[in-house]
Amino acid sequence: MIVGIDLGTTHSLIGTYGEQGPHLFPNALGDYLTPSVVSVDDQGHVIVGRAARDRMVSHPDSSVATFKRWMGTPRETRLGTHTFRPEELSALILRSLIADAEAATGEKVTEAVISVPAYFSDAQRKATRAAGELAGIRVERLINEPTAAALAYGLQENRDGSRFLVFDLGGGTFDVSVLEMFDGVVEVHASAGDNFLGGEDFLDVLQTAFCAEHQLSMDALTPQERGQLRRRLEQAKRDLGANASVAVEWRHGERTLNWQIDEERFARLAEPLVHRIRTPLERAMRDARLQPAQLDEIVLVGGASRMPLVPRLVSRMFGRLPLRHVNPDEAIALGACVSAGLKLRDKRLEEVILTDVCPYTLGTKVSHPDEQGREQAGFFAPIIHRNSTVPVSREETFQPFRDNQTKLTLEVYQGEHPMADHNIKLGELQVPLTPQRRANENAVSLRFTYDVNGVLQVEATILATQERHELVLEQNPGLLSPTEIRSRLQALASIKIHPREKQENIAMLARAERLYEEYIAARAQLQQWIARFRHVLDTQDEHLIREHRRQLSEALDTLEAQA
Ligand code: ADP
Ligand code: MG
Repeated sequence: MIVGIDLGTTHSLIGTYGEQGPHLFPNALGDYLTPSVVSVDDQGHVIVGRAARDRMVSHPDSSVATFKRWMGTPRETRLGTHTFRPEELSALILRSLIADAEAATGEKVTEAVISVPAYFSDAQRKATRAAGELAGIRVERLINEPTAAALAYGLQENRDGSRFLVFDLGGGTFDVSVLEMFDGVVEVHASAGDNFLGGEDFLDVLQTAFCAEHQLSMDALTPQERGQLRRRLEQAKRDLGANASVAVEWRHGERTLNWQIDEERFARLAEPLVHRIRTPLERAMRDARLQPAQLDEIVLVGGASRMPLVPRLVSRMFGRLPLRHVNPDEAIALGACVSAGLKLRDKRLEEVILTDVCPYTLGTKVSHPDEQGREQAGFFAPIIHRNSTVPVSREETFQPFRDNQTKLTLEVYQGEHPMADHNIKLGELQVPLTPQRRANENAVSLRFTYDVNGVLQVEATILATQERHELVLEQNPGLLSPTEIRSRLQALASIKIHPREKQENIAMLARAERLYEEYIAARAQLQQWIARFRHVLDTQDEHLIREHRRQLSEALDTLEAQA
């Protein structure tokens, strides 16, 4: 069987193309969305999905999320006694999805179409293919996420020359793409976005407002309390889509905090974020040299585009209603299934892949003076911006922070975060500054040159002496060779994964343990419940287990609703 997969930063989905068209498979818990989270338990068994997400709270050191951001880099994550590369973590998610598809159909999954962001570099695409191999399937093709969204809407049936804008607001990333269809070929005309803007930031807005209103300082809350509050507010954020006003009640120690928020106020509070949404939209349109009237359709996808303020903004900016009737968190997966269906019918839709751009912003780390003139270190200073067409060469001039500094350490980073340490460090260049001079007479010009092969050349020139220093960075150290893939495949195969039929029990325990972590007052009670449930699990009596699981689930619902 050939499947379509959306391997998302926050959630992943799997489906296939059948007689009725594209359709998705539920996971062992009955959900279509599997959280892209991996955790390793005390026995060294791997746990994926909702249970792993709960374990982020109770076992943060042995759980990991948002690793899609690290695809194409060699960054390793230690979970318990195992160490994983990003493509291995992705492979564990894929395996779990594949098991769900196989359980639903009784057929073996052999091939897949997997969606990736349009701006994914060659290295990131190769890492995604490697993840498929590590999961034991052949990746028939990678499809750009915006193209998949267009397929879910059947836009490939439009006339030649049609142009679409795909707006994708996920959990932590925002992507805008302008697509053009020509002769069965989809071209990504422009892509823009914000790698650190998504539904989570809107949740932060609610959290800040809630705390301000109740004179709570976020720093005074324990991580457990913060987790509880965020869960409450996440529900409120979702409820605001269907209700003009939502009540939030949260018990904090002895106090019961009540809050009422309406959609209008939420939209006002979120104004700075809404503003950040506008920028990439305007940029993508400018880069594609299009006026709003020249777009045939605007498509909204990504879970966070469900917030009413999103279609409002888009309608206002473009003067028309966007398409959003396909479930926004399923659209990309459904599109990947359509692509799998096209392959089955020996028809395909070709894509022009956008790899002749620099996928990340490249820059260095600098200090800025604060109001008192003291050094504030660690800011990211971009030199080559993401999406610049390659080859590209840009130069910026920097001064040492202090007079008579004897050397300058120029660190090279890639990423989109304003603080350098949140980005990925690629290397550094030491520039000795002799003789000593005043800071303003000791400027260094820093030139970055990035070529089609992903090689970054860094050149520093001390302006006073014209002395040059150079560093050459291969941008793709992050790829596994075929031999490495084979050996890692074996290593992964020996890792134990809990069988699918145990998933509901594991998820129930993980949830109870999360609540134990979050609700201190209920700990004695929870401990009893956990012990009893573990005991029932030991009986291996399926009937008894099911009955207890149902009771425990209800008890946990009540606890969470009342606390
Ligand atoms: P990703 O593509 O990053 O994996 P998704 O498309 O699954 O992400 O979107 C996840 C985001 O969507 C989360 O921030 C979540 O809060 C938000 N979201 C999901 N459903 C809703 C809803 N009904 N209302 C508002 N936000 C929602
Ligand atoms: Mg997504």
